Amino acid sequence: MRDVTAVMWFRRDLRLSDNPALLDAVAAGDGRVLGVFVMDSRLWDRAGDPRREHLVASLHRLSDSLEGRLVVRRGDPVDVIPALAAEVGAHSVHVSADHGPYGQARDAQVEASLKCPLVATGSPYAIAPGRILNQQGRPYQVFTPYFRAWLEHGWRKPVDAPARVEWVNAAGEELPDSRVDGAGEQAALEQWQEYLKRVAQYDDERDRPDLDSTSRMSIPLKYGEIHPRTMLADLARTRRAGADAYRRELAWREFCADLLAQHPEAAWKPLRPEFERMEYDEPGALFDAWCAGRTGFPLIDAGMRQLASTGFLHNRVRMVVASFLVKDLHVHWKFGARWFLRSLRDGDLASNSLNWQWVAGCGADAAPYFRIFNPVGQGLKFDPAGEYVRRWVPELRHLDGKTAHEPWKHGGADGYPDPIVDHADARREALRRYDAIR
Ligand code: FAD
Repeated sequence: MRDVTAVMWFRRDLRLSDNPALLDAVAAGDGRVLGVFVMDSRLWDRAGDPRREHLVASLHRLSDSLEGRLVVRRGDPVDVIPALAAEVGAHSVHVSADHGPYGQARDAQVEASLKCPLVATGSPYAIAPGRILNQQGRPYQVFTPYFRAWLEHGWRKPVDAPARVEWVNAAGEELPDSRVDGAGEQAALEQWQEYLKRVAQYDDERDRPDLDSTSRMSIPLKYGEIHPRTMLADLARTRRAGADAYRRELAWREFCADLLAQHPEAAWKPLRPEFERMEYDEPGALFDAWCAGRTGFPLIDAGMRQLASTGFLHNRVRMVVASFLVKDLHVHWKFGARWFLRSLRDGDLASNSLNWQWVAGCGADAAPYFRIFNPVGQGLKFDPAGEYVRRWVPELRHLDGKTAHEPWKHGGADGYPDPIVDHADARREALRRYDAIR
C-alpha cells in the first residue's frame, strides 16, 4: 500500500473535471484520495429548501462518480476536517479557495487546527477575486473598467478530470434521499452544451421572461458542478453573436465576488455610506404581500410566484421585484435579499447582495437611485403579450394579450388583489427620502 493519502474537501466545486484542486490532491496523494463533504449547520440551516434539495442531489451524483466513496460528515468543519485528516493520516488537505466572508474565516481556523497543510488551488471563478487591480494597484469599484481588465488578464484553459483515483473510504453519514432531477456534473455539462446551441439569441432575448431564453447556468455554477473556465473556453470557440454578451454576464458574477471579497460587510450593509441614513419602513403587511405574490401588480406577482414554486427567477424580473420592494414599498433591501437567499436555488451571497445593492442604488456602481422602474411599464415592455404573467398568475388567464398587465382597466380579476400602493405616490415618496440623504 502506498503510504500517502490526500484529502479533497469538496465545497463549491462538486465535480471532477476542470478541478485543479482535485488534480493537486491526486498528485499529492499519489493517486490515493479521500473525498469529503461537511454538512455545516451554519450554512445548511440558513440555506432554504431549494438550495438544500439541490445540494443533496448534487452530492449524490458526486458520490456516484467517486464510486460511492464520498465521505459525508456533519458538524463544524473546524473540528471535522482536522479529525478526519488525523484519522486517515492525511499528508495534505486540498480545497479550491473560498473568498466569501464566512469561508475565509472558516478556512483560516481549519488551517490553524490542522496538523498537515491546507492547500488551496483555484477558486469558483475564472479569475480569483482580488487578482484584478487597476494601475494604482487597487481593486476596481466600477464594472466596465473591471470587465476590460478581466478580459485582458485572461484565464487558464480548463483541465481534465484525473485519469485514475483510488478513492479512500472512511465512516460517514448517509445522504438524505433526493428527488431533484438535473443536478450534478453530467447534467450541468449537458445543460451547457444544449444552451450553447441557443446562445446566438442571448443578446436579443435575454431580457424577456416570457421567452425563457437565458441559460439557468447560475444553478450549476453555484454548486461548482461546472467551472466558468469550461464555459468560457466553449464561448471562445463559438462565433455566435450572443457569446460576447454571455461572457459579459459571467464577468458580472466575478465582479460581485470581487466586490464582496474587498468589502465583506457589503453582504448586508450599503457600500455607499450615505444610505446608512436612508429612511426605510419596517417590513409588515406590504412585505408579506410581496413575498406571497399578492401585490396587485401582475409582473411582480408573477415573479414572486415563479420564485416560490420553482426556486428560480428571471434576471429582469429579479430587478423589477427588487426595485418594487425598495422604492415602492420602501423596505430595506436586506429583507428582500434574505428572502431571495432562502427561496433561490442559485442563492449566492455575493451575486445576491451586490445585485440588491445595485438595484437599491447603494452599491458602488449602482443604478442611479432616481431611476425607478414602473412595474406596469416593465411588464408591457418585457412581457409584451402578457404570457409570463398569465403563466404564473392564474387569476389573470381570462385577460388577453397585454391587457393582463392592467387588470383594473379591463374589468378586474376575481380573487386578484387591487394594487397595494399607488406607484406614482410611492415613487414621489422614494425620491423625497433619497433627497434627504444626498
Ligand atoms: P443568464 O442570463 O443565462 O446569465 C449567465 C450567467 O451569468 C448566470 O448564470 C450568472 O452566473 C451570470 N450572471 C448573469 N447576470 C448576472 C448578474 N446580474 N450578477 C451576477 N451574475 C450574473 N445570481 C445568482 O447566481 N445568485 C443570486 O443569489 C442572485 N441574486 C440576484 C438578486 C437580484 C436582486 C438580482 C437583480 C440579480 C441576482 N442574481 C443572482 C443575478 C442574476 O439574476 C442571475 O445570475 C441570473 O438571473 C441567473 O439566470 P441565468 O443563469 O439564466 O442567467
